[in-house]
Amino acid sequence: MTKMVAPSAQPLPSFRTLAFIDGAFVPAMSGRTFRAENPATGALLAEVSACDAVDVDRAVTAARRAFEEGRWASLRPVDRKRTLLRFAELIRAHREELALTETLNMGKPITDALRIDARAAADCFAYYGECCDKIYGEVAPTTPDQLALVLREPVGVVACVTPWNFPMVMAAWKVAPALAMGNSVVLKPAEQSPLTALRLAELAHEAGIPAGVFNVVPGLGEEAGQALGLHMDVDAIAFTGSTEVGKLFMGYSAQSNLKRVHLECGGKTAFVVAHDVPDLDAVAEAVAGGIFFNQGEMCTAASRLLVDNRIRADLVARIAALATQWMPGDPLDPAARAGAVVSREHQQRILAAIAQGQKDGARLVTGGAAVREETGGAFVAPTILDDVCPSSALAQQEIFGPVLSVIGFDGLDEAVEIANGTIYGLGASIWSADLAAAHKVARRFKAGIVYVNCFDADDITTPFGGMKQSGFGRDKSLHALEKYSDLKTVWTRL
Ligand code: NAD
Repeated sequence: MTKMVAPSAQPLPSFRTLAFIDGAFVPAMSGRTFRAENPATGALLAEVSACDAVDVDRAVTAARRAFEEGRWASLRPVDRKRTLLRFAELIRAHREELALTETLNMGKPITDALRIDARAAADCFAYYGECCDKIYGEVAPTTPDQLALVLREPVGVVACVTPWNFPMVMAAWKVAPALAMGNSVVLKPAEQSPLTALRLAELAHEAGIPAGVFNVVPGLGEEAGQALGLHMDVDAIAFTGSTEVGKLFMGYSAQSNLKRVHLECGGKTAFVVAHDVPDLDAVAEAVAGGIFFNQGEMCTAASRLLVDNRIRADLVARIAALATQWMPGDPLDPAARAGAVVSREHQQRILAAIAQGQKDGARLVTGGAAVREETGGAFVAPTILDDVCPSSALAQQEIFGPVLSVIGFDGLDEAVEIANGTIYGLGASIWSADLAAAHKVARRFKAGIVYVNCFDADDITTPFGGMKQSGFGRDKSLHALEKYSDLKTVWTRL
């Protein structure tokens, strides 16, 4: 089952590399594999099964059979709860191995992988596990001679397609509520970071989730991802990734069985700072963390700093001074605050976006280059560009790297107009000493998540998702359960 390749001073976890279908690890029928690499060194970690439409069909068939036989869906909700809580405990027990795998496979700092990713994944399964026996149907207020029950039922087979920036957490946000509602799941992790998903499936099985209920098909987007999107027996798709690919899933649904599509797509968060903020250092800390955390590979990254022109130079200087603290290091070093970006290809895309920004008139304040090239890994220095034109590519397109674009404004009306002036509507932030003014701005943002005088506050109890082309449907909170259930009205004449 394990094909580990990379020789390293670091002991490697024993990677799972085959697809997980119907309770067992199996190779892709074609025998093909793809490379899982360590972006911090360029070394090969493992060859992973490249599932295609044939394997996806096997997984969907297994998921359907498990669903129809009621192996999971017909369990007492309290038993589903106990199993999911056991699964959460197993994730906690294996958090070091999972965190190390995540770091090796996608480059994020080990301290974040352990303290944030592994913990958040376990907490997410525990939260939705607790929901299993607390979700009720309804009795509609009809005339007294009739009884109308509104049942909440699982949709059936749910396919989850996830990105590489938070592989475990993005999978948990979808798989946990889908399982809590009694669905069967087929998960396709991003090809850049498939390793933790495969281990999670194994742990789920160990926790007692029956065969066929949680399947993982690693593979390329155009193969495994597309096959799930087009499959006639998938009832719902839960997707997190780029807006471009999200749109493809709408098309797949239209071309196939009109499966429900839930999209969590890209973002271009505006971090708006009014002239009256009392503590510029605190703002600078929040901006730096907001854009440089996770190498900027965050859908809600504070990629656009909109700052009142009266305090702009001062704030930019303070953020630039902090940038050095976010200089990438070895992701395995517990002291590193930033690590490698996900791949060499992605590094080149980030650097090209910076170069284009400069051609379009932006002024480089700091960064703008590859670093740690001697490691063979893909690293980008924390980068700040000022004088960015709000309509330029730099300010409009998601870069998904440690690149801050600074835009000045005169007055909050102009700030709101610029903030709302992209195709995205995921995150936004407003900082001001005047709380009433800040809340008025918060209401005018077209964004699903708004931070007032803070940034990236987070809790599993709050809905997460976007407006406009950032998608629709919400992860996290009780609202996520709506994506994974259907309402059925049952009438009885009394
Ligand atoms: P991506 O869109 O390239 O890939 C996402 C998933 O879709 C992967 O599993 C990939 O294999 C699959 N895919 C790719 N091409 C496909 C195709 N033609 N058909 C079917 N499936 C296909 O995104 P990414 O680069 O992995 O992740 C980065 C993106 O994710 C960013 O845009 C980021 O904003 C977004 N994201 C959004 C949220 C959110 O909650 N809104 C959270 C995290 C990441």
